[in-house]
Amino acid sequence: MSEVLVLVEHVEGQIKKVTLELLTLARRLGAPSAVWTGPGYSADAKAKLAEHGAEKIYVADSADIADYVVAPKVDLLQQLVSSASPAAVLVAATAEAKEIAGRLAVRTDSGVLTDVVGLEEGAVADQSIFGGGVNVRSRVTKGIPIIAVRPNAVPVEAAAGAGAEEQVSVAVSEAAKTAKVVERVKEEKGARPELTEAAIVVSGGRGVGSAENFSIIEKLADSLGAAVGASRAATDAGWYPHQFQVGQTGKTVSPQLYIAAGISGAIQHRAGMQTAKTIVVVNKDPEAPIFEIADFGVVGDLNQVIPQLTEEIAKRK
Ligand SMILES: Cc1cc2nc3c(=O)[nH]c(=O)nc-3n(C[C@H](O)[C@H](O)[C@H](O)COP(=O)(O)OP(=O)(O)OC[C@H]3O[C@@H](n4cnc5c(N)ncnc54)[C@H](O)[C@@H]3O)c2cc1C
Repeated sequence: MSEVLVLVEHVEGQIKKVTLELLTLARRLGAPSAVWTGPGYSADAKAKLAEHGAEKIYVADSADIADYVVAPKVDLLQQLVSSASPAAVLVAATAEAKEIAGRLAVRTDSGVLTDVVGLEEGAVADQSIFGGGVNVRSRVTKGIPIIAVRPNAVPVEAAAGAGAEEQVSVAVSEAAKTAKVVERVKEEKGARPELTEAAIVVSGGRGVGSAENFSIIEKLADSLGAAVGASRAATDAGWYPHQFQVGQTGKTVSPQLYIAAGISGAIQHRAGMQTAKTIVVVNKDPEAPIFEIADFGVVGDLNQVIPQLTEEIAKRK
């Protein structure tokens, strides 16, 4: 069975959930080979990858590989593509990994598919394109399919893999050294899950009315163990930090449940959330376009509806 390379996403050695989703999908195409880059590799990491189907784990854990932005990772994947001739290369559809995918496609003269939300045998992909307005099925017809999959596209399934470890070294080329990471600033992280990985997202828009009032969105999110998102109107107004903006110029989320409160549903907002499995809307205007994509909608004032919802959830815990 051909190998399928899976680029591992991790933060200081902690493997991100999307990696396990990629391993789940990789099994549909061949034998998953996880590709570890940068420091942080450990016995725990190895066990987790093997428990999710990694037959092989390529380990390139020198500091160099993480110190020069994306280019060394592209060098590494290019090297592995030529030595392993994989059936496909899977990466997460994050800003960094999409850049890696694009560069790798150029280097290997292959096709690349991004923002994939489903993947079947034969590497046929479901893609959400044109800002999420159109869904298509696509297949790479040239070279090795390089596929960037959105977080939360599939549920994680565990499956034992051999987890055979192989150390790989990559000589970082002079060209790859032209952009160096000079500083890393740790993002202040609360107890909430990371926005792009969260299974539930509660987002507020201009209808929330003020920065202070975002507390009702946060309370609902906390009652559900959800991440908080915001529309651009809300972030531009300074009511919520920009890093939580959902949409075309913000983050793309694909959670199991997306609750949109006081958001009208502009195309640029939809682009970042309409592949959510279930969409619940609270808006006082029954004509708001967001109702077109809602699975459940409540026409009402969010100042009344959201606290009641939070209270009901608390009662059921
Ligand atoms: C190039 C470009 C990129 C963009 N990128 C993004 C992006 O990434 N993300 C994004 O979100 N937008 C983006 N936008 C902006 C987008 O076009 C909209 O302006 C924005 O999404 C509107 O935000 P909103 O829905 O919160 O506000 P509005 O459109 O003003 O809607 C507010 C909604 O709240 C409802 N409401 C008001 N009060 C209440 C209440 N008390 N209870 C319940 N409902 C209430 C109203 O009925 C209304 O539907 C972009 C625009 C451009 C041009």
